[in-house]
Amino acid sequence: MNTPPAPLSIWARNVSPSPTLAVDAKAKALQAAGEDVCGFAAGEPDFDTPDHIKEACIAALKGGKTKYAPTPGIEPLRQAIVDRYAAEYGLKATPAQAVVSPGGKFNCYLGVLAVCSPGDEVIVPAPYWVSYPEMVKLAGAVPKYVLADDRTGFRLTPAMVEAAITPRTRMLILNSPSNPTGAVYSRAELEAIVAVALKHNLYILSDEMYEHLVYDQAKPTCVATFSKEVEARTITVAGFSKTYAMTGWRIGTTVAPLPIAKAIGELQSQMSSNVTTFAQYGALAALKEKEKTQAAVQKMLVAFDRRRKFLHAELNKIPGVSCLLAEGAFYLFPNISSFGVKDMDFCTRLLEQERVAAVPGSAFGAEGYLRLSYATSDETIAKGVARLAKFCAGLKK
Ligand SMILES: *Cc1c(COP(=O)(O)O)cnc(C)c1O
Repeated sequence: MNTPPAPLSIWARNVSPSPTLAVDAKAKALQAAGEDVCGFAAGEPDFDTPDHIKEACIAALKGGKTKYAPTPGIEPLRQAIVDRYAAEYGLKATPAQAVVSPGGKFNCYLGVLAVCSPGDEVIVPAPYWVSYPEMVKLAGAVPKYVLADDRTGFRLTPAMVEAAITPRTRMLILNSPSNPTGAVYSRAELEAIVAVALKHNLYILSDEMYEHLVYDQAKPTCVATFSKEVEARTITVAGFSKTYAMTGWRIGTTVAPLPIAKAIGELQSQMSSNVTTFAQYGALAALKEKEKTQAAVQKMLVAFDRRRKFLHAELNKIPGVSCLLAEGAFYLFPNISSFGVKDMDFCTRLLEQERVAAVPGSAFGAEGYLRLSYATSDETIAKGVARLAKFCAGLKK
């Protein structure tokens, strides 16, 4: 009998499963087994979706919005998306430039796929969101990592970008506020980096998923608004998951130059079709019922900010740990390199000995750090950081 040929394609063999989801799954399995785990690994808000959003979705479901919809999104939602960009940033786009996809992750992937061909190089700033390298590879393109560590506040300088550019460079990925570091670039910093991308004729994928989760004096920047030239080469991704606590809904948005938006819609039409039709009506309510939505977001922001400051202060009290006060998202990225332990071992032992779940920096291309999500209860943070301190004291001996 013939044995079948080797089963897996190069795509399947080359993809790495998401390490953040893996740590979270391990922590949840321990929890399910009755263990008292302090989870800092999850990349999602601990809040529930605001009621008015759920109710709009339920009404749509009951009202029979259960059929296929146009692939790039229902018309009122595409209109509301471009209206929002106009109101918040003065970006003037048409609904035809907006695409609604099944999660911001898929918006990013389609953005890469629409622009990059096999062999193209994509500049990926590190520490990076774990999915960028994999999506670039799935497009047959090559990720080029540029590491900005805590000495530059996890922010690239124009010179660092310039040094990574080759004749094959096609795209630059930007992500401010950043997952995993929480770093927020100023508008001036982004303008200087984007000037390098313009000079070398690159496309820009600007992942602005955390635009509304900023603290202190930090402001979100919509890169596409810098100039007409920049707008013509920028794919802007955002979404509902993080701002509105809608991670399970799977709805993200792209606004791009028309030919790219059309290509993204066509790719999506063969890969997934439209986002769940009735879910889109929930997203529409999030944008339309602005006052209710703002009130809900504000409540989350107050809690995130309180936890951010507390966790930051407690981390810096631990001998051997140093942590910048990030101004965005819901992550801190403390440096633990002084312990002389690989961050992967650090995290494994931390979970085994102290039942604290954290993701190692190396999962994001930056050895010697931890990513701690503070999108969890104040009690969990207090208990977890005390356990982390105890663990670190044990390492010091
Ligand atoms: C969470 C996240 C996304 C996308 O989230 P979805 O759940 O797919 O909408 C995109 N980029 C970054 C940096 C993220 O952290």
